[in-house]
Amino acid sequence: MTFDRHITRFLGQDRKPVSIEFSPPRSEEAGRQILKTAALLKERISPDFVSITYGAGGSTRERTEEYASILRNEYGFDVVAHLTCVGASKDEIRAILREYHAAGLRNIMALRGDPPKGQSDFRPHPEGCAYANELVELIRISEPDFCIGVAGYPETHPQAPSQEADLINLKRKVDAGASFITTQLFFDNSYFFDFVNRCRAIGITVPIIPGLMPALSHEQVIRFGSMNGSSVPAELAVRLAAVEGDAEAARKVGIDWACQQARELLERGADALHLYIMNRSESALAMVDRLVEEGVIAPRG
Ligand SMILES: Cc1cc2nc3c(=O)[nH]c(=O)nc-3n(C[C@H](O)[C@H](O)[C@H](O)COP(=O)(O)OP(=O)(O)OC[C@H]3O[C@@H](n4cnc5c(N)ncnc54)[C@H](O)[C@@H]3O)c2cc1C
Repeated sequence: MTFDRHITRFLGQDRKPVSIEFSPPRSEEAGRQILKTAALLKERISPDFVSITYGAGGSTRERTEEYASILRNEYGFDVVAHLTCVGASKDEIRAILREYHAAGLRNIMALRGDPPKGQSDFRPHPEGCAYANELVELIRISEPDFCIGVAGYPETHPQAPSQEADLINLKRKVDAGASFITTQLFFDNSYFFDFVNRCRAIGITVPIIPGLMPALSHEQVIRFGSMNGSSVPAELAVRLAAVEGDAEAARKVGIDWACQQARELLERGADALHLYIMNRSESALAMVDRLVEEGVIAPRG
């Protein structure tokens, strides 16, 4: 049995790593789509590591584990498996951790999670974790050889009472044992640079991986923006609105925008790129190809 490498090993190097986020499929057709995407990405851009999300309300628990194993065993990726606190007692979380560990996984993204559909506020399991910092602590104590990542919010988590409180809560997660932060997607780099400065000022020293989503349509960025609190720059909204109804042209706008963001982020010292790709390969392939061509990221071996 081989074990995944800690993804912090890839960070802080001259060659900036690219990571890709997958979500567990909800149908057989979606399952085939993920495998096709994984195969294409592996062959063409060979991402340094990938992550696999954990469905809202814990709804994809088995699928997260199943696809984490497929991505590592059949495609050879180092995997960051996500885990949330939703609907699980600490004993149930410990059992999941043992399963992840036995499957050779060694990287985990520790999240509180969102309330299940139809519920507006997050209600922790009576014997579970109320916040992600408690989950980080539980992981560190139960399975100390996991490398733990946590979520960061350049534009502040939508439920946080203030920017300052959100940052203090982020520091709690790092102090509890997180080794890296991956951010919520953003379309305006100035939020990321400001966030990194605020993190460093408060004593958060771990690597911070920016999350980018190559947009697919005007409707999509507006929907994601309102869900995640990510603001949409007027220029991007105008460019996408101008090509509404033309999926190919909209994808091109999204790729151009995300490439421009990636270029600036890496030039100004970001540790890596994390791409939210909605299980589809086209935009990620086009982005990475272009960034390699421009010499912004080194070609994969
Ligand atoms: C990179 C990334 C990956 C994600 N992957 C998934 C996924 O796989 N599955 C999924 O369901 N969701 C996922 N999400 C969404 C995430 O679950 C939601 O954003 C959720 O609302 C918050 O999760 P968190 O881990 O950031 O929570 P927390 O860090 O617990 O924060 C939640 C809120 O509580 C506040 N808070 C935190 N700790 C404390 C404390 N100790 N006391 C008081 N207040 C506190 C924070 O300021 C924040 O407002 C992801 C988000 C990101 C950015």
